[in-house]
Amino acid sequence: MARYDLLITNGTLVQPHVGEMRADLAVKDGRIAALGHDLSTDDADEVLDATGRVVLPGAVDAHYHLGIYRDLALDAYEETRSSLVGGATTVLSYFRTGEHYLNRSGRYEDIFPEVLRAVAGRAFTDYGFHLAPMTTDQIGEIPRLIAEHGVTSFKYYMFYKGFNLASSSRDAKSFRMADDGQEYDLGHLFELMEGVASAAADPGRSRVSLSLHCEQSELMRLFIDRVRKNGDPQTLAAYHQGRPPLTERVAIGEAVTLAQEARCPVNLLHLSGADALDAARTARRTHPGLDVRTEVTLHHLCLDHVSLDATGAGLGAKVNPPLRTRHDNKALWAGVLDGDIDWIASDHACCMEEHKGDELWPALPGFGGTALLYPVLLSEGHHRRGLPLHRVAELVSANPARAYGLTRKGSLMVGADADIAVAELDKRQTVSADLLLSGQDHCPFEGVELRGWPVTTIVGGRVAYRDGVVVGEPSGKYIRRC
Ligand SMILES: [Zn+2]
Repeated sequence: MARYDLLITNGTLVQPHVGEMRADLAVKDGRIAALGHDLSTDDADEVLDATGRVVLPGAVDAHYHLGIYRDLALDAYEETRSSLVGGATTVLSYFRTGEHYLNRSGRYEDIFPEVLRAVAGRAFTDYGFHLAPMTTDQIGEIPRLIAEHGVTSFKYYMFYKGFNLASSSRDAKSFRMADDGQEYDLGHLFELMEGVASAAADPGRSRVSLSLHCEQSELMRLFIDRVRKNGDPQTLAAYHQGRPPLTERVAIGEAVTLAQEARCPVNLLHLSGADALDAARTARRTHPGLDVRTEVTLHHLCLDHVSLDATGAGLGAKVNPPLRTRHDNKALWAGVLDGDIDWIASDHACCMEEHKGDELWPALPGFGGTALLYPVLLSEGHHRRGLPLHRVAELVSANPARAYGLTRKGSLMVGADADIAVAELDKRQTVSADLLLSGQDHCPFEGVELRGWPVTTIVGGRVAYRDGVVVGEPSGKYIRRC
C-alpha cells in the first residue's frame, strides 16, 4: 500500500502567518501527512505536479446562505459546487427560522436536524452553520446547540426590528413567523448576547460568538420614505440612499455598547464602506477588552452603485447592506491592507434574475460570489494592491477558521485537513455566470477580468475540481465545532 494517497510536488506552499515555502505536500486519510523536499513520488497513489503554481489552504467562506431562496438540497449541491471554482473547501452558512429558508418557525431542536438531513451527501465542500435565535425560546437552546451539534456561532439582524419595509409591508413579525407576542428588539439582542457570552466563558471551548448584521431600522424607515417621496428611482443608488451608511454606524454603536455590557464576542458582518469601517475601528478603540472581529464581502470591496447603475445592468446587485461608492471600495481595501479587516467572505445567496426584476423594493436582496473568493483576492488584492500571498490566505482561510472554531482548517500544517486550492497566479479569465458553476443565472461581476485562479481544488484529500470541471460526487462533511 502506498504511503500517501496524494502528493503535490514542486509547488510554492502559502502558509498563513508564516509565508511562502517551496515544498512538496503529502496527504494521507484526508489530512496533510508530510511536508518536505523531494518526497518520493513512488510513495504516492496519485501525484499532482504543481510546478509554477501556488498551493493555498482551501478558503473558508464564512458568510453564506444555503437554501435562503431555493430548495436547501439543491442549493447545497449547486452552490458548494460553485465554491470549488473559487478554491473554497468549507462554507459556513447562516440559517434562521421564519420567512425564506424553510418558511417556518419552531425549535431548532426540531428544525436543525431537518436542515442537516437536507444538506447531507449533497455538498461538495465541508460545511457548518451559524444559527439565528429569533425567539426567546431559541436563545434557551444555545447550550444544547453547542453541545449536540457543535454550532458555536449565532446571529442577530439589527434591521428586522418591527418596521414596515415600505414596499412589501414586511415587519419583524412576518420575518420571524412567530406569533408569540415577543419583540425582536434590543432587549432580545441583549438577552441573546448574555446567552452567547455565558457559553463563550467556558474556557475549554473554542470561540463562541455572535454575528451582527448592522443596519438601524428606524432610520431606514425615514430614509426609505424620503427616497420614495422623491421620485422613487428604481436604482441601486436609491437603495443606497434609503439605507445610508449612517444606519450602519448607529447600529454598530448600539450593538457594541450592548456587547461590552454583556461581554459577548461579536463579528461585525459585511462592513459596507468607509463609515462602517470607521465605526468598527472606533468600537475597538473604545472597548479594547472586547472581542470584535470584522468582515467585508467581495462585492463591497469591488462593486459600487454608481458604476453599476451607469451600465444599466439593473437590480441584480441589490444586496443588504447596499453597495456604496468607489470611495468606499478604496477605504475597505485600505482596511484589508492595514489589518483592520479580519476576513473576507462572499455572503453567497443564490438569487435568480427573476427574483430581482426591475422594481427596486420587492427585488430580493443578495447574490452569489463564492466562486470569486480566491480570484478576487489574488487579482485585486495580491496583483493590484501588493497584498502578500500569506495575507491572502489569512483573510479567506486562516482567520475565519480561527474565529469560528474550525481547528483543522485554515492551514497547510501537518495534521490539518487536506483542504487545498492549487492556483495559477497568472491565469486570466473574464467572469461570466457560466464559468462559476452556480445555479444562479446572472452575476454582478459579469465581464470583470480577474488574474489568478484556482485550477485544482482538493477537499479532504480528494481532488474535487480540476481545470474548470467538477470531479466525482459531493463528499463534503458537516463540521462540528466546539
Ligand atoms: Zn448574509
